[in-house]
Amino acid sequence: MYGYIPPIDDYRFLLRDVLSFEAAMGELGMEIDADLAATVLEEAGKLCAERLHPINREGDEHGSRLVDGNVQTPPGFAEAWREFASSGWASLAGDPAYGGQGLPFLLQLWLDEMMAAANLSFGLFPGLTRGASEAIAAHASESLKATYLPPLVSGEWTGAMALTESGAGTDLALLKTKAEPRDGDNYAVTGQKIFISSGDHDFGGNIVHLVLARLPDAPAGVKGISLFLVPKFLRDADGGFTIRNGMSVGALEKKMGIHAQPTCVMNYDGAIGWMVGEPHRGLAAMFTMMNAERLMVGIQGLGIAGAAYQQAAGYAKERLQGRSADGSANPVAIIEHADVRRMLLHIRGFVEGARALGGWVALQLDRAHHHADAGARAKADALVALLTPVVKAAFTDFGFESAVQAQQVFGGHGYIREWGMEQYVRDARIAQIYEGTNGVQAMDLVSRKLPVAGGAVVQEFFDLIAADLAQAGGAAIAVRTDEALARLREATAALQGADIDTAGAVATDYLRLFALVAIGWMWARMATAAAHEDTAFNKTKLAVADFYASRVLSQATGLAEGILAGDRSFARLSAEAF
Ligand SMILES: Cc1cc2nc3c(=O)[nH]c(=O)nc-3n(C[C@H](O)[C@H](O)[C@H](O)COP(=O)(O)OP(=O)(O)OC[C@H]3O[C@@H](n4cnc5c(N)ncnc54)[C@H](O)[C@@H]3O)c2cc1C
Repeated sequence: MYGYIPPIDDYRFLLRDVLSFEAAMGELGMEIDADLAATVLEEAGKLCAERLHPINREGDEHGSRLVDGNVQTPPGFAEAWREFASSGWASLAGDPAYGGQGLPFLLQLWLDEMMAAANLSFGLFPGLTRGASEAIAAHASESLKATYLPPLVSGEWTGAMALTESGAGTDLALLKTKAEPRDGDNYAVTGQKIFISSGDHDFGGNIVHLVLARLPDAPAGVKGISLFLVPKFLRDADGGFTIRNGMSVGALEKKMGIHAQPTCVMNYDGAIGWMVGEPHRGLAAMFTMMNAERLMVGIQGLGIAGAAYQQAAGYAKERLQGRSADGSANPVAIIEHADVRRMLLHIRGFVEGARALGGWVALQLDRAHHHADAGARAKADALVALLTPVVKAAFTDFGFESAVQAQQVFGGHGYIREWGMEQYVRDARIAQIYEGTNGVQAMDLVSRKLPVAGGAVVQEFFDLIAADLAQAGGAAIAVRTDEALARLREATAALQGADIDTAGAVATDYLRLFALVAIGWMWARMATAAAHEDTAFNKTKLAVADFYASRVLSQATGLAEGILAGDRSFARLSAEAF
């Protein structure tokens, strides 16, 4: 296996030449220039490459274990967590009011990419902790915030998100966990949750679960769900958190990948919890956490694809097989074969384009949080909401496909364990499923996000792309993206107001088409920036942009045709016919 090399040169290029980072920060009154941002990323990259990547393989082989009811994470994880938190990485973009460093979310997003690349199982701990902090900050009482936010923001404590039950996955209306009011301001939470990531661990400190449950008088359905903060340890008389709450790990799920990550069956037996937000409005509060997690999960797809690419490119330069096209006498490195280059270019076209698009979305999130003007905040927020299902689903689909292609570059050596490629494939797979399956993300895009403001938000996004493409001076990538955008506009018009079945039948293809165009837009921006100076870095960018224009964007026509065909064959069959 080769090591992991953080993509700092690419981050620098994006900060300086593509995303106008300094101008964006200036507008938000945040004092950080591109050099400082790149230095922060460089330091974060060292931690990922030198501390998290080396324990990734053993983490997979050893896995987390349940010993006497307590989770033991694999060797090195607890030490790595403490180093991660004490060096300030947990609090990077956290709210300064609670001890956070208040750095731009853009840096957090790229730190997430590097963590996912180096060690996906580890990256879930800080991701869930951050999501819990955001939900508490947005919806909890001042006293809960004062108690729980400082240690969560610093990483002294961690967070977990407990929604899923055996009978309630996508459809949370079916959940049965109960919360009974006790004396005072708290509740007794009783029920079983399954699949709870980071539900327990041996890092020390408290574990703060955000649990969805029903009050005794709750109306049926999603309108009867409330949100509760349920800590593993309760406060004792001296103010320390030493008293075990009534919750326990029933089992660890045995699963395909992310073996180091403890995915817990959690039993809450009258566990004491405090309500976060309003009664019966818990799902809305939980969405603060889920939206943050969805972006992070999308970035997991990107991170794994980038790491798998590095391994595949390294191997392709060393593995000797076959003769060159001009008939060399000796075997050549497989990187000389056009088909191997095709696979690598496919992955690279996704990785670098998605890295840029993820960065653009992160800057919108920074605007949504920090812009002085309420109108600008609302506009940025609407764009983030539109793009969130696209990032979650498309990045994880492309991420998994990229991991498989990178594995393919290794031939049989990718299938056996030695090179670690099969771990990337297994680990990447979950990101398509959790945080709302990708099919459900596609439905969210088509049925909830497209109609926002009568379709004005999505039109505004398309107009933004069109305006940028018009500046790109006729480069192939701009022309092909513009053509694909025209198909996307047609598909969008066809889906506006479509019934749920018609939309559901094509939503996944629509989301893919949307993502191809959005990533093409970023490639057009990158190609424009790279055309200014004739360096090796820029030449590579321009070649990958051309590949994306001719070989990837060409899929847009087929996707649009399928969407516009109005096929109803899915509805012709009875359930028995399947
Ligand atoms: C490793 C792992 C970690 C997880 N971590 C957490 C966690 O930390 N916290 C937590 O609460 N949960 C967690 N989950 C749960 C995860 O979010 C759910 O598994 C996921 O949301 C899907 O729910 P389900 O498994 O019940 O599938 P189902 O909801 O039964 O879905 C099955 C299939 O039907 C489709 N489907 C369902 N409803 C619809 C619909 N309305 N329209 C179209 N298609 C539909 C789905 O797309 C899917 O293909 C985790 C799961 C795993 C495997």
